[in-house]
Amino acid sequence: MVPSCYVHIPFCDSICSYCDFVRVQKNEMFFSNWKEQLIQEIQEYKIHDLHTLYFGGGTPSLLSVNDFSEIRNYFPASIDEFTVECNPESLSDEKLRLYESLGVNRISLGVQSFKDELLQVCNRRHTVSQAVSVIEKIKKSSISTFSIDLIFGLPNQTMEDVKHDISMFLSLDIPHLSIYSLQIEENSVFGKTGIEPIDSDLEADMFEYITKTLEEAGYIHYEISSFCKPGHHSRHNLAYWQDQDFYGIGCGASGRINGIRYDNTTNLKEYCLKGSCPTYISETLLERSMDAIMMALRTKFGLNILAWNERYQSDFRLKYASVLSKYAAYFEYSENHIYLNDAGLEILNTILVDFMMIE
Ligand code: SF4
Repeated sequence: MVPSCYVHIPFCDSICSYCDFVRVQKNEMFFSNWKEQLIQEIQEYKIHDLHTLYFGGGTPSLLSVNDFSEIRNYFPASIDEFTVECNPESLSDEKLRLYESLGVNRISLGVQSFKDELLQVCNRRHTVSQAVSVIEKIKKSSISTFSIDLIFGLPNQTMEDVKHDISMFLSLDIPHLSIYSLQIEENSVFGKTGIEPIDSDLEADMFEYITKTLEEAGYIHYEISSFCKPGHHSRHNLAYWQDQDFYGIGCGASGRINGIRYDNTTNLKEYCLKGSCPTYISETLLERSMDAIMMALRTKFGLNILAWNERYQSDFRLKYASVLSKYAAYFEYSENHIYLNDAGLEILNTILVDFMMIE
């Protein structure tokens, strides 16, 4: 059984300055063809059972009540974790009620900053007060958990701004945070207008502050960019990090079935005319085994050594003995698992390069 499914909803009301995801401004001309192809793609997979379902984007909360209901009904009625990515300006009371009634039990809200000036720099369509009001409504709803996204390292953002964001996050008593440092992507507005990244020492100081403050407040830093209160981690993302298969459905989605990865077309016109047009990614067993290590070591849950040995017909401890010994101070073990401590997560990329040197 494939336990998880990601559905990409590629429409946005406007384009944020840092974004280079697969997204287009909502376009009625394409929309009905897109929905027809999406429903056909969902039906082709004949999904009868799912642990996690994730509607990401783009902006899934832009889907009308009718369109959301129609698409959702092609999935099993009962799903352990059903997440919908939302933006504050498009998560109306009506949609919140609809999500509650259709089994959504996790919302991921794109807040990005608690400073209006920085939201404007990012070309976001919501204000801080809109975001706070939506957060309060989610807390009062029957949706059992939710997360917000924040960005740090924005142009002209100071350490005081980051402290303000974290203090707002804590005062709003939010169960989960995904926080990313700004990456200036070539195809984003920031990339095209020559915005420079902030000083790398300041960025490192910001991240150190974020980690320390959230951990002191009782949050678990369970993945490089993810913090949660106990029991509120994203089970869907865990499927990616723990080497499991997942369907990827929609224009711009990626998936993995029977260990084979695929990328659907990112071209909306092509998707509307011909469907998902997946490109299958040919990976050797060594590449797949390395992917599993790279994903698992990002998290506090770590790598299940026995499962890895069995799946990849190898002996992890023997094969990587030199790396395990070189970075012994950074690894911890529990039962069959190996994971990195906080200091290890800080040098994750360096450690992974050493893993990759071994064939
Ligand atoms: S960040 Fe989200 S809302 Fe903004 S353009 Fe990208 S996908 Fe759309």
